[in-house]
Amino acid sequence: MPAPSSRISGISPSGKDGWEVHFAAYKRKIAGEDIMMLSVGDHDFPTPSETVEACIKALRDGYHHYTPLPGLPRLREAMARISTESTGVETTASEVLAASGGQSALFAAAHGVLDPGDHAIVVAPYYATYPGTFRSAGAGFTVLEARAEDGFEPRAEALEAAVRPNTKAVLINTPNNPTGAVYSRETLEGIAEVCRKHDLWLLSDEVYWTHCGADGGRKHLSPRGLAGMKERTLVINSLSKSHGMTGWRIGWLTGPKDFIRTLINLNLVSTYGLNDFVSHAAIAAMENRYGVEQIAGLYSARRAAFLAEMRCFNEVVVRGSEGGMYVMLDIRAVDPDCERFAWRFLHAEKVAVMPGASFGEAAAGHLRISLCQPEDKLREAAARLRRFIATYPAETNA
Ligand code: PLP
Repeated sequence: MPAPSSRISGISPSGKDGWEVHFAAYKRKIAGEDIMMLSVGDHDFPTPSETVEACIKALRDGYHHYTPLPGLPRLREAMARISTESTGVETTASEVLAASGGQSALFAAAHGVLDPGDHAIVVAPYYATYPGTFRSAGAGFTVLEARAEDGFEPRAEALEAAVRPNTKAVLINTPNNPTGAVYSRETLEGIAEVCRKHDLWLLSDEVYWTHCGADGGRKHLSPRGLAGMKERTLVINSLSKSHGMTGWRIGWLTGPKDFIRTLINLNLVSTYGLNDFVSHAAIAAMENRYGVEQIAGLYSARRAAFLAEMRCFNEVVVRGSEGGMYVMLDIRAVDPDCERFAWRFLHAEKVAVMPGASFGEAAAGHLRISLCQPEDKLREAAARLRRFIATYPAETNA
């Protein structure tokens, strides 16, 4: 066959061998073994029944047709209302582009601001699709490691040092996957300052914005709300996490009106608009906030329950872990090789977790634990982890 394009061949999944722990665990689980899967992040519960019913009704009511390229007007209005709430900046429907999930919004953002040969900066540890998304746009990128000791928040000086003459954009994610870090105002002000100084776009992935602050912890702050940032910030959002709708593929990009107008052409040549009946279900879900408080509360309670088991345990240091759907445990005092630790933990205790090294250098020596399991299972996993560490082979540290 003729060769595929280098842009497409270049979209290889990121992350190193750590994912093999997950795949091996998954294989054993579907073969019938009782493995606890704390390695991936998809809800362990279905979409709220009200949303499902709204979708069935929309199907019965004949919503089977093409929809406007940037999204149905009422869908964009509902998205704009959420953007107003989540970013603190009054947002209109014309500043919103509906997309097939947060990933598609991220793709639109990357293609909207980067030409082949341009450079971007991505803060690590990061969500696995980020490098491939930049590569698909033909852009190069620098990985800026946010240090564990800084709670996985990036330093402005390090960001500034990574800027090159052809840098066009910076990509951040708060609340963060995989670290659970929720960026402070100071961190975001520092990032914003660099973006303003070097005239950069800031791509801000905020898909976990409802998953923090419920229990008095740090609240989500969007850099879009900082001085001089509205015109250079593109916010990626989605109903996947906040509304329990991962499989429905509804997300959106918020940005300057003129930019969004140009970007509508991307929907023309890619998706040709969203699914009609799913859009109607999404409108109902957003207008009525179906599941939002319950889901946020559930993850908050799970995080608190799991961390309570870990915080009184000296061998492990909790880093980040203030929001999102994961917690990050620093196990360097037990074994600096988190991949080896994860394999051994799987074999000995039948619990699958992700080695932090899969998400970049900064997370090496850590474990990422998914909170997508009921609270009692998470407590059980914590008990197994403690038992396992107590008898961990001493020669490993030699
Ligand atoms: N951004 C982050 C940080 C994520 O963790 C995910 C999914 O896990 C996404 C974006 C994409 O989400 P979706 O495409 O389901 O909206």
